[in-house]
Amino acid sequence: MRDFREQLIDGRLVPGAGPEFTSIDPYTQTEWARFTSATPEDVDAAVAAAERAFDGWRRTSGLERARLLNALADAIEANVDLLAETETKDTGKIIRENRNQILFAARNFRFMAGLADKITGETKPLDTYTTFAFTTREPIGVCALITAWNSPLQLLSNKLPPALAAGNTVVIKPSEFTSSSTLELARLATEVGFPPGVINVVTGAGATGAALISHPGVAKISFTGGIETAKRIAATAAERIVPCSLELGGKSANIIFADAPREKAVAAALGGIFAAAGQSCVAGSRLLVQESLYEEVVAELARRAGEIRLGNPMDAETQMGPLAHRGHYEKVLGHIADAEADGARLVAGGGPAIPDSLFMQPTIFADVSNDSRLAQNEVFGPVLAVMPFTDEEEAITIANDTRYGLAGGVWSRDVTRALSVAKEIRSGIMYVNTYRTSAAQAPSGGFKQSGYGRERGTEAIADYTVVKNTMVDLTNDVRDPFLLGR
Ligand code: NDP
Repeated sequence: MRDFREQLIDGRLVPGAGPEFTSIDPYTQTEWARFTSATPEDVDAAVAAAERAFDGWRRTSGLERARLLNALADAIEANVDLLAETETKDTGKIIRENRNQILFAARNFRFMAGLADKITGETKPLDTYTTFAFTTREPIGVCALITAWNSPLQLLSNKLPPALAAGNTVVIKPSEFTSSSTLELARLATEVGFPPGVINVVTGAGATGAALISHPGVAKISFTGGIETAKRIAATAAERIVPCSLELGGKSANIIFADAPREKAVAAALGGIFAAAGQSCVAGSRLLVQESLYEEVVAELARRAGEIRLGNPMDAETQMGPLAHRGHYEKVLGHIADAEADGARLVAGGGPAIPDSLFMQPTIFADVSNDSRLAQNEVFGPVLAVMPFTDEEEAITIANDTRYGLAGGVWSRDVTRALSVAKEIRSGIMYVNTYRTSAAQAPSGGFKQSGYGRERGTEAIADYTVVKNTMVDLTNDVRDPFLLGR
C-alpha cells in the first residue's frame, strides 16, 4: 500500500497526529494508499505557518511569484504520469482524462504566473485638479482551499495559482477520498522552492475542513463541493465575516436545435454526460432536443451509449471507469430508481454494469418531465435525462427551470439564434456548438445555487484580492477640517 502519511506544514512534510485512513481504488475496490488525519493542533500549526509566511510572500515581487508558479507548472508537467496514475487510483477516472486534466492544471499555473506581475489598479481623478485617488489590489491573507473528489488537482489549479499570484498564503484540504495527488503536489512545491508556510496541506475528513474554515487566522474560504456542505461553509464565513467563494453543482441543459451540426452535437452530448462517468460539475445532464429530430437522436444516443467501453481506467482504450466510491454509487442507483418511479422512459442502461463492482451502465431516460426528480436533482453520475422542446422560448423556459445555474449548451448553425438563446439562460458558463470546453483564460462559476465567485481567467484575481483606495492631495492648502473634503 502506498504511504501518504504526510501533511505539509511550514515547508515540512510531517505526519498528521490524528487517526489514519485509507483510500480505496474504485476499480479493484481494495485499499491502495494510507493517510493521516490532521488534528485541530495540526490545523492550528498549518494556519499559523501560513500567517507567518504571509508578510514575506505578499512583499515578494510579482516576477518572483511568477517564477515559482512556472517552476511548479514545469514540475507538474514533468510528473504528469505519476500524478495521473495517483488520481486514477483514487478516483477511478480514466487515465487519459486525468493526464489531460493535469496538463490543464499546469496550464492554469502558467496563466496565473503571467498575471502575477500585472495585478494593477486604477487612477481616479477627483473633483479638483490637485487631488486624485489610486486603487491597488492587495492580497487577503491566509486562504483555506477546499476541493471535491472528482478532479482533485484540476480543481485545486483553479484556486491555488490565483491565490498565490495575488500574494496570499494557503492551507489546502483535499477530499478524504482523493488526497494523494494534492500531497504529491505539496512535495513538488517544496522541491521547486516555495518558501515555508506559503503552501500548507492538511488531510482528513469533513471535520478537518470544518476546523480549518473556523480558524480565526483564515481570511478567505474557497470551496468546491456540494450544496449542503456549502451552506455550512457560507454560514461559518458569515459568522466570521470572511469572504467566501463557492463552486457547486449543476443540472445543465444542453439544447440541440434541428439545424445543429448533428454529428458533432450528438458526440458532445454523449461526452457531456458520460465523460468522467458523469462526475463532472458541468455535465450536460439534461439534454433538450427539438421535436423534429427527437426520436432519431434518442435512438442514436441509446445505441452509442451501449457501445461505450467500460474497463480498467488505467487502459488507454477505456472510455468510462467505475464511480469514485461505494457511497456515491449507491446514491446514483437511488437517482435511477427515482427516475423509474417518476415514469421516465428508460432507453439505455439502467443499473449496475458489472456485478460486485462500482461500474454503472451509461444510462439514458427519455421523455423526462422537467419537474421530476431526475431533472431537478444533480446525479453526478452517468445518467442522462432527455426531453423534447418545440421552439426557442420553450427551450429557454425548461433550461432555466432549475435551482442550479452552472453551465449550458446550445447547438445551432444559426448563430443569431444560438447566441440569443445562450444570452437568456441563467448560467455562468454557456457553450455554443461545443460542450465541456475549458480554458485557463475563460472564467468559470455559477449563477443561483451553483455558487458565487469566479475561477480562472483574469476574473479569478478579484476573488483573492481586496481593493485599497489611496486618496492624495498634491497641495499644501489647509482645508476646513470640519467639512468632508473632496
Ligand atoms: P462535498 O460537499 O461533500 O465535499 C467537498 C469538500 O468539502 C471535501 O473536501 C469535503 O471533505 C469537504 N467538507 C465536507 N464537510 C465539510 C465541512 N463541514 N467543512 C469544511 N469542509 C467540508 O462535495 P463532494 O466531494 O461530494 O463533491 C461533489 C460536488 O462538488 C458536486 O455537487 C459537484 O457538482 C461539485 N463540484 C463543483 C465544481 C465546480 O467547479 N462548480 C467542480 C467539481 C465538483 P471530505 O470529502 O473529506 O468529506
